[in-house]
Amino acid sequence: MDLADLTAHELLTLISKREIAPKDVVKSCIDRIERCEPLIKAYLYIRDPEEIINSVREDMPYSAIPIAIKDNILVRGLPNTCASKILSNFIAPYNATVIEKLKEKSFNITGKTNLDEFAMGSSTENSAFGPTRNPWDLERVPGGSSGGSAASVAIGSSIWALGSDTGGSIRQPASFCGVVGLKPTYGTVSRYGLVAFASSLDQIGPITKDVTDCALLYSFINGHDPNDSTSLNVEPYRYSPLTGDIRGMKIGLIKELLVEGIDPSVERCIRDAVKTFQDLGAIVEEVSLPHISYSVPTYYILAPAEASSNLARFDGVRYGFRAGGKTAEEMMSNTRGEGFGPEVKRRIMLGTYVLSAGYYEAFYLKALKFRNLIAGDFKKAFERFDVLISPTSPILPFKLGEKVENPLEMYLSDICTIPINLAGLPAISIPCGFVNNLPVGLQIIGPVFSESRLFEVAYGFEQAMPFHKRRPQLGGNTYGV
Ligand code: GLN
Repeated sequence: MDLADLTAHELLTLISKREIAPKDVVKSCIDRIERCEPLIKAYLYIRDPEEIINSVREDMPYSAIPIAIKDNILVRGLPNTCASKILSNFIAPYNATVIEKLKEKSFNITGKTNLDEFAMGSSTENSAFGPTRNPWDLERVPGGSSGGSAASVAIGSSIWALGSDTGGSIRQPASFCGVVGLKPTYGTVSRYGLVAFASSLDQIGPITKDVTDCALLYSFINGHDPNDSTSLNVEPYRYSPLTGDIRGMKIGLIKELLVEGIDPSVERCIRDAVKTFQDLGAIVEEVSLPHISYSVPTYYILAPAEASSNLARFDGVRYGFRAGGKTAEEMMSNTRGEGFGPEVKRRIMLGTYVLSAGYYEAFYLKALKFRNLIAGDFKKAFERFDVLISPTSPILPFKLGEKVENPLEMYLSDICTIPINLAGLPAISIPCGFVNNLPVGLQIIGPVFSESRLFEVAYGFEQAMPFHKRRPQLGGNTYGV
């Protein structure tokens, strides 16, 4: 194992004991970037290695633990493309609030990671700059939309990363890449400086190798921000060492998320996870959330509606790419026509349609009502259970190109993660098994502000079943690198 294979907290301990030099960690990650990046393509932009090494400061331990940032979170002075042609020449003029917070601790950014264009997708194949590959199997997708961040953490081209999650974009790639991902409670992490996709659902969160790192990174990025009107003024989460004691805890296994189209090998892993929780002293029972099956249609009305409004600002006047045209209108139309990829256009058209007069009541308002019903199902379930569990994805990482022609199939694969965003809840995905050397993720969901409880449950599982310790063999010679 190289240093790039260790977790942040392990590295911080080694550094504090002076067993390793801070610069060695950074060098190990840069070496990983040089060897693996040509195959994985996790990054859209990588900072100059010399600069990354020179950013290490002996008195600032986090400067030695490289972090990768999804390319829809603004880092001043670095490109921010959202994997779209329309922002291909855009340089971020300011830092997102999460980046400001990390900079206070001298966090060392490796670069900006690949994503589905404007975070719309589940495979990172919708990137205008080519897909990222899954480190566990180069023929397969890393998940999406934060596929670059998840793949980078899995192969050690960064120690940890930030992603964003609107309907599963942190958890599903974490699941596909065998790492840990948290979608925080809506409003606990500032969205200021995150390029908006669907503002009522978007949330930034950590992608890490284990639960302790996840809790640590979350503690650094959460907290109230006056620059984001949806940011909540509540007591922020503060990290304290985890115990993993879950004796007596009541866990609900969501019945509706274990049927219809689930891969039997994924189901087996989840059933095994249930046994692990029982062995750890928790009580596990099935629970029904009757409206959860309406989540995908509800999401595909609300998210595109918000996206169509948010993406109206990309018109060739204010940002990035501009196409030619004889009139202003023609220029705008050409810019959007050439600048946006097919999935983004599909969503803008869907969103404009459901918001148009005559259809607003029939689609948009109805979807809002369903969103309430789904949130109500969760509320009721949390009267009986401390946390709920489900697969993160009903299917294993799929082959590149396998679902590109069938957007509906791609949409349906997000059934387990989407309801959580609709209800504004926190959920964490952790590795819970392997099938043919492909990782499977378990999703643990809690009531609002229950992040510390989620970390305990996840940590308890992780200590009992250390699947998070496996690393893909890319760093070695398996792929001839
Ligand atoms: N896959 C979902 C979508 O395409 C979720 C994406 C996300 O969370 N950003 O909308």
